Amino acid sequence: MAYTLINAKPAARPASEALPAALAAGQGALVDSFGRRVSYLRLSITDRCDLRCTYCMPERMTFLPRKDVLSFEELDELVTAFASFGVDKLRITGGEPLVRKDVMELMARFSRHLGNGLNELTLTTNGTLLSKYAGELSAIGVRRVNVSLDTLNRKLFETIARRDMLEDVLRGIDTAIAAGIKVKINTVALAGLNEMEIPDLIRFAHGRGADITLIETMPMGEAETDRVEDYLPLNKVRSDLVEQFTLIDLNYTTGGPARYVKVEETGGRLGFITPLSHNFCESCNRVRVTCTGRLFTCLGREEGADLREALRSDPTGAALRVAILGGIERKPKGHDFDAARLATPASPRTMSHTGG
Ligand code: SAM
Ligand code: SF4
Repeated sequence: MAYTLINAKPAARPASEALPAALAAGQGALVDSFGRRVSYLRLSITDRCDLRCTYCMPERMTFLPRKDVLSFEELDELVTAFASFGVDKLRITGGEPLVRKDVMELMARFSRHLGNGLNELTLTTNGTLLSKYAGELSAIGVRRVNVSLDTLNRKLFETIARRDMLEDVLRGIDTAIAAGIKVKINTVALAGLNEMEIPDLIRFAHGRGADITLIETMPMGEAETDRVEDYLPLNKVRSDLVEQFTLIDLNYTTGGPARYVKVEETGGRLGFITPLSHNFCESCNRVRVTCTGRLFTCLGREEGADLREALRSDPTGAALRVAILGGIERKPKGHDFDAARLATPASPRTMSHTGG
């Protein structure tokens, strides 16, 4: 069948010349130049959000023009290509993924790969719209969600997120659990803000059968808050926690930066994400794609590929596969974050652009 190419520009290198036939056809695994197999994609589907967390984005955030953001068809093509390369875990993120118009139509499209390429389809959300969507997410096969929650105090929530929406988030968490979805809570540890509340957040999560992971602030994008002041090293949090909890190191890993312990008193799992450490890079199995189709192969680095250009220039999909493989080949050995440089962002991207 002959194709009519609309807006077609030739790919930089014809796929057939650049790749062995099997890889050009989108078969085989994604292995980087350090021998790490990439099996996990985090895909941002929007840069928009209904909160304005101070460490993430300014109050007057300028969002991207819609034409720059990948369409449902483009996102679908991208996921299909990654799944054909053996990526079996897909996490949808943002911005806030659930604010994207008709988000469930998109999620349903992704879910058709479950059991047929993908083993897992998950979501990272701020939870404000979870009570609306939890039932549908469960119905299409979403078994786990990460919900960001930095405080249980309504006033402090409003201070951190600049919106009075704690009640919505709490309702979302309970609705998700009731719908049979396993919830993990993600908490950014913030000096002098939620520092004293961390034990309560642990009890809150574990009391609901949810894991909880604490995250150090990362130097991403231009936030309006003082990161040096907010920065709370997790080794300090951990030494404070052992005053009241028994923490037992676990071997459990997801291939990412988190280190896990079991809290004996609650029976639940607690993770520590210290992105400024390099101790996970050698086993890193993940890449990120922004809502504009930029492939980032390392959170703090700029190496990657423009998948949108590849998607829009070549309807056969060959340029996309070449661009993905090229990006994976350039995946750096490790990241560039440095605690001493917290005040100056290592990466000009905000987390809401890259997806957490
Ligand atoms: N809106 C969703 C949410 O909040 O879960 C998904 C996107 S958000 C960018 C993903 C995660 O990144 C959240 O857990 C958030 O707390 C975290 N995050 C955002 N900016 C951060 C920063 N500068 N340092 C550390 N974590 C950050
Ligand atoms: Fe929105 Fe998530 Fe960023 Fe908060 S952390 S502003 S919820 S994208």
